[in-house]
Amino acid sequence: MPAPTPKLNAFPVFMRVTGRVVTIVGGGEEALAKARLLAQSSARLRLVAAAPEPALAAWAAETGAQIVAAPYEAGHLHGSALVFAATGEAAAERRVVDDARALAIPVNAVDRPELCDFYTPALVNRAPVAVAIGTEGAGPVLAQMIRARVDRMLAPSLGSLAALAAQYRPAVERVLPKGLARRRYWKAFFTGETAHALAAGDAPRARRSASALLQAGGRGTGHVALVGAGPGAEDLLTLRAQRLMMEADVIVHDALVPEAVIAMGRRDAERIDVGKRKGRHSTSQQAICDLLVGLARDGRRVVRLKAGDPLVFGRAGEELAALAEAGVSSEVVPGVTAAFAAAADLGLPLTLRGVASTLVFTTGHDLSGAVLPDWARLAVGGATVAVYMGGSVAGSVASRLIEAGLGPDTPVAVVENASLAERRLFAGRLADLPALAGRGLAGPVMTVIGQAVAAAALDRAEPLAEPRLPARAA
Ligand code: SAH
Repeated sequence: MPAPTPKLNAFPVFMRVTGRVVTIVGGGEEALAKARLLAQSSARLRLVAAAPEPALAAWAAETGAQIVAAPYEAGHLHGSALVFAATGEAAAERRVVDDARALAIPVNAVDRPELCDFYTPALVNRAPVAVAIGTEGAGPVLAQMIRARVDRMLAPSLGSLAALAAQYRPAVERVLPKGLARRRYWKAFFTGETAHALAAGDAPRARRSASALLQAGGRGTGHVALVGAGPGAEDLLTLRAQRLMMEADVIVHDALVPEAVIAMGRRDAERIDVGKRKGRHSTSQQAICDLLVGLARDGRRVVRLKAGDPLVFGRAGEELAALAEAGVSSEVVPGVTAAFAAAADLGLPLTLRGVASTLVFTTGHDLSGAVLPDWARLAVGGATVAVYMGGSVAGSVASRLIEAGLGPDTPVAVVENASLAERRLFAGRLADLPALAGRGLAGPVMTVIGQAVAAAALDRAEPLAEPRLPARAA
């Protein structure tokens, strides 16, 4: 039998305070902290302090809170919805607590849990939505940690979305039958076009879409977000990427995106792997485009998760064009591209004053033709070159660049599995690059070429070429 869930000793409720008085007794820092917290509500604040400290007085003047500048007496509590004792003196607080209880007003004594009728939570405020976190005195540090995490999960626009929902509620209840249709409406409302328009600050579009959704009987129009997953470390995912993954119905990802990153998404989202795997062909680009369009037409919210940044060697152009042609709404969320992750692992400045002021992202695949591409000239001119999909073409990239006039001694660094714990770093000269083939690299590989590489912190890198034996002393 599962162990019973422990009982809460304090039961959370949301108390209606609008138009009511909340009294805080105390003139110092603790009183000001409580006043600031309470000022997130529309309660009328009454601060009782014979000698308010300047910070409290200034805050009250600024916010219009009432200050009763007189020695505390029980009469000050009359008519209050809540009372806070925040004087910092045990005897004075005890007195406020006794007075409040005699008047049947719930009271909180700051930092004296044994005297409290209620505790104040750590608060995530997206009015009218509030998340209150209580720990029954286990500690404000824990509460603040949880608060920060919840705060990151919730879009700043959540409050205006909830307010808009309240406006639409009567119409929805009139038009849509109770049950499935209404649930479908609200799900599409809170995760779909309406929510996205508000997040983008476009209130008129949000209203249009909420109304259109109502007319369509709650059937949402799907949406596809092309989302950059970053180089592989899950904490290099952007907050926006994670938010969209939490809202997605379906996550369509490539093989390069690690499981740990996909796991940052909604647990019950459907996952579709369209990547290459050993012994199995990857889904063709056309099939992926068709899949995305089909999912969106079913009203699903799709995250198309791509390694790094979706717009860098990610075939995003084809997917965006297919979505636009099918009339499916889409957006792009940038990600940390592999070149940036590799540079960070190496401590390598991609641009360097007086050394490199041009940065080239290339695949090197265009080096096989008879004509050298433009970027080879940029490399000779001193650009830093980041080679994507470099593992297999590194050797030919090196020989063609040397042919084009780049010095064989030009510094080169290579990172396999950038940003991940199992990464490997290599450093050497352009002429050594073909040796990479013999290193048995199985992960994705980023190669960076140029004089700026010499400025990197390469002490942890292995040599690219097998180390030459030192000349024997004569
Ligand atoms: N859109 C991706 C690139 C896709 S192309 C981005 O912006 O990063 C795939 C190539 O990216 C790989 O062959 C490799 O060269 C590079 N790559 C992706 N992740 C990498 C990683 N963690 N470490 C090194 N290279 C990586």
